[in-house]
Amino acid sequence: MRAGSPPVTKMLSFEEALSEVEARLTSAGAAPATEVVPLGQAWARVLAEDVTADRDYPPFNRSTRDGFAVRSEDVSQAGSVLILDGEIRAGEYFKAEIGPGHCAAIMTGAPLPTGTDAVVMIEHTRPQGDKIEIERPAAAFENVVRKGSEAQAGQRVLAKGRRLRAGEVGLLASVGKTHATVSIRPRIAIIPTGDEVVPIDRRPEWYQVRNSNSAMLAAVVTSAGGNPWEIGIGPDQKDALQNLIEKALEADMLLLSGGVSMGKYDFVEDVLADLGAEFYFRSVAIRPGKPLVFGRVQGKFFFGLPGNPVSTFVTCNLFARPAIGALMGSGFERPAFLRARLAKPVRHPAGLTIFTPARIESRDDDPVVSVVGWQGSGDLVGVAEANCFLVVHGGQPSPAAGNWVDVLPISS
Ligand code: AMP
Ligand code: MG
Repeated sequence: MRAGSPPVTKMLSFEEALSEVEARLTSAGAAPATEVVPLGQAWARVLAEDVTADRDYPPFNRSTRDGFAVRSEDVSQAGSVLILDGEIRAGEYFKAEIGPGHCAAIMTGAPLPTGTDAVVMIEHTRPQGDKIEIERPAAAFENVVRKGSEAQAGQRVLAKGRRLRAGEVGLLASVGKTHATVSIRPRIAIIPTGDEVVPIDRRPEWYQVRNSNSAMLAAVVTSAGGNPWEIGIGPDQKDALQNLIEKALEADMLLLSGGVSMGKYDFVEDVLADLGAEFYFRSVAIRPGKPLVFGRVQGKFFFGLPGNPVSTFVTCNLFARPAIGALMGSGFERPAFLRARLAKPVRHPAGLTIFTPARIESRDDDPVVSVVGWQGSGDLVGVAEANCFLVVHGGQPSPAAGNWVDVLPISS
């Protein structure tokens, strides 16, 4: 380490690092500012109000089948023959009561007429002139969703802090919310660093690389509900880097990439330290992504992500994504691992938690995960082949073919 660098803190395990980020973000406290947005803009945002059902859901006993609305006591045995009183289409209702021994044709989504409490599917009936023969017995409320069974009027259907995915947006629409109160999108500054990194609209010299990290980080930030702010490429030069980081302090959080390893020109931590940063950790026992820095500077959380594009991608998804959610008041949504069977054995260096680009596929009954061919942590071509990461935790032995292993789906 160079003279003047911030002190090295102990390397944390993946779980310890995640818990550290969670603890820091969730104790930070201040409730996020809110705004009212039209429903069409609510996706991926975090709800800042409780939402209640404006009426019972469903609002009536609703048929889930095309068939015949019956009184279940009339059809407790197969073979009953009922008098057909009429028809109820979805969007209409039947004005008269259906008496004993009678029935009405009913379509999916229509309200059951008074007197009836079950629906017999059309496939289980046979017309007999103006009567209907019921070929199978039906119990009370068969093929019916009862009024108020999903939610009762006034009941809370979505709590403040809930992330609005497509299903939640649909629910908001169904209870008549044309607008929703959500937390504002936090502004997340994105600062790639490196003298070899050039803007994507410039033709790189043979010894330069295009800035792929900014666009990738912006996509992760957007999908996490944040507002990405790409503020240009920081050089491997202290003063210029400091100017850029000072500008970035206007944001709610900072994502830096590159310049956090042990190289002679890795100045990110030095500059942050000069600006008074507190460092919570500076390396994590994961691969890719070991030189991962997390701290707070002038009241703003920052991540110093390793510059290799796959390292940036993995660490951003694991740590920065839930941190953005926490800034929005959704709590800290820890990455959720799924399980699959490993297609071929992998070698696992002891002590590190390894994330390897992989594909998960359903074969026969079990999901099977196979590692994709990749050239290491610079290889975005390999990542683009993958739909998940194979996760082997530090302390676990190398898994054999057929073992159940953890996978982290690539969600966006
Ligand atoms: P660093 O973490 O600065 O040592 O960079 C590690 C590797 O990632 C180097 O090969 C860099 O050229 C590459 N790299 C750093 N920043 C970016 C970026 N914004 N876009 C693409 N590659 C990058
Ligand atoms: Mg660099």
